[in-house]
Amino acid sequence: MMTANEIRDSFKKFFESKGHVIVPSAPMVIKDDPTLMFTNAGMNQWKDIILGTKDPNPRRRCDSQKCLRVSGKHNDLEEVGHDTYHHTMFEMLGNWSFGDYFKEGAIDYAWEYLVDVLHLNPADLYVTVFEGDPSEGLERDDEAAKYWSKHVPADHIINGNKHDNFWEMGETGPCGPCSEIHVDSRPESEKAKVPGRELVNKDDPQVIEIWNIVFMQFNRKADGSLEPLPMHVIDTGMGFERLVRMLQDKNSNYDTDIFQPIIKEIENLSGKKYGFTTPTGENGEGANEQEKIDIAMRVVADHLRAVAFSIADGQLPSNAKAGYVIRRILRRAVRYAYTFLDQKSAFLYKLIPVLVQEMGEAYPELPAQQELISRVMKEEEDSFLRTLDKGIQLLSGDMDELRAHGKTELDGESAFRLFDTYGFPLDLTELICRENGYTVDEKGFDVEMEKQKARARNAAVVENGDWVELRQGEQEFVGYDYSEYECHILRYRKVT
Ligand code: ATP
Ligand code: MG
Ligand code: MG
Ligand code: MG
Repeated sequence: MMTANEIRDSFKKFFESKGHVIVPSAPMVIKDDPTLMFTNAGMNQWKDIILGTKDPNPRRRCDSQKCLRVSGKHNDLEEVGHDTYHHTMFEMLGNWSFGDYFKEGAIDYAWEYLVDVLHLNPADLYVTVFEGDPSEGLERDDEAAKYWSKHVPADHIINGNKHDNFWEMGETGPCGPCSEIHVDSRPESEKAKVPGRELVNKDDPQVIEIWNIVFMQFNRKADGSLEPLPMHVIDTGMGFERLVRMLQDKNSNYDTDIFQPIIKEIENLSGKKYGFTTPTGENGEGANEQEKIDIAMRVVADHLRAVAFSIADGQLPSNAKAGYVIRRILRRAVRYAYTFLDQKSAFLYKLIPVLVQEMGEAYPELPAQQELISRVMKEEEDSFLRTLDKGIQLLSGDMDELRAHGKTELDGESAFRLFDTYGFPLDLTELICRENGYTVDEKGFDVEMEKQKARARNAAVVENGDWVELRQGEQEFVGYDYSEYECHILRYRKVT
């Protein structure tokens, strides 16, 4: 069985043998693009080439790109831990052709690599092609279907809609149809019952997308119309952790040698066992004790990577923008470890040596920054745990009050104060209350949240998903209200 590191190398070697230049991963944290905080796909670093403002040579390239999908167009954060194949930070294997080979070449290479080199079973592979959109005068991508049919039977080629099979860089700019490769990894007995083609793109945890091959052939103009793109571009992205899982014949990305060493260390340190369970219900609702432990271990193993790689890229946790996103990821991990793994003191940072041992060779920035990563993580954990402790004390006080008054429901205002001042998300408050036999007035919480949003709007603050932005020229930022806490309450003063 190939190890993850061997699989990563084999991808690069394969495309190198096809004339591609192997390039390093771009940083995961982006410093100079106001439209994007984190690299979320391999193509990000080639934007200027694709837009035609930078020399496309060498025209064939290949890499393994560190990606983070926690904000903006791609936000998988809430899935992570609950499913077994979406990560915050993951590696995207990619090959590119800037005005060189196009659909036939890209399809042939992908097939040769998966089937001839890696020996995936062709019977388990399904491919999708764009079904077309008459409202835009776009036809079905018969060309891609034709090239796929050299390799796969007709019933393994599936039409896909615009959402899954038409890629656009933004409101304007390069775009085009794409083909995705999906793998059916269910046991044979299950495959006999329902054909894999019926489960493609249906969120089945065993029939998952591994590779997206984009054929950029149009340019969308400002008036919304499409024109042919002068230079055809092939842009592919394959989920490395998903590929490794298929090759190592596992049910979950977390069962591969990418995550198992980290999970083993979490077991050692926490004294709890990973149960290899597949989660039930959304957000762990209805999950039993073992499932909760498993979700928590997956969250910790995943978030550890995201935070460590960000710090290695020079992005420390902070109260604004990218730093705030990183802080939230770290705090999400601390919450899970605190609640389900009984880790009441700093814990994540202890996993860094294993991470560095496993990934340090492929990503030398990790060992180079190991000391800084450890120090920053431990400090962040310590400070958040202090906040968490204070919040929990406050909540116990609130529950004492309830008991004294014979009540069973915590009011929305109190729940909101915990959220606002101590960074306690509603689900944590509910969890602690539930464990003590109380409920929380969720509606009341929402009302308080709305009130705060209205206050923020009045202060002319624009909420932009993961962070808060100032509207240019209207006011000036004068400081944080309290820097120690999960504070997104910023203070502003009107510029007169
Ligand atoms: P999905 O439908 O599973 O969310 P996607 O269509 O959003 O994936 P693409 O944008 O096409 O993903 O990215 C290319 C490849 O990157 C996917 O085929 C998949 O293998 C991998 N990938 C995407 N998102 C994640 C993630 N959050 N964690 C791990 N791998 C991912
Ligand atoms: Mg997605
Ligand atoms: Mg998809
Ligand atoms: Mg896709």
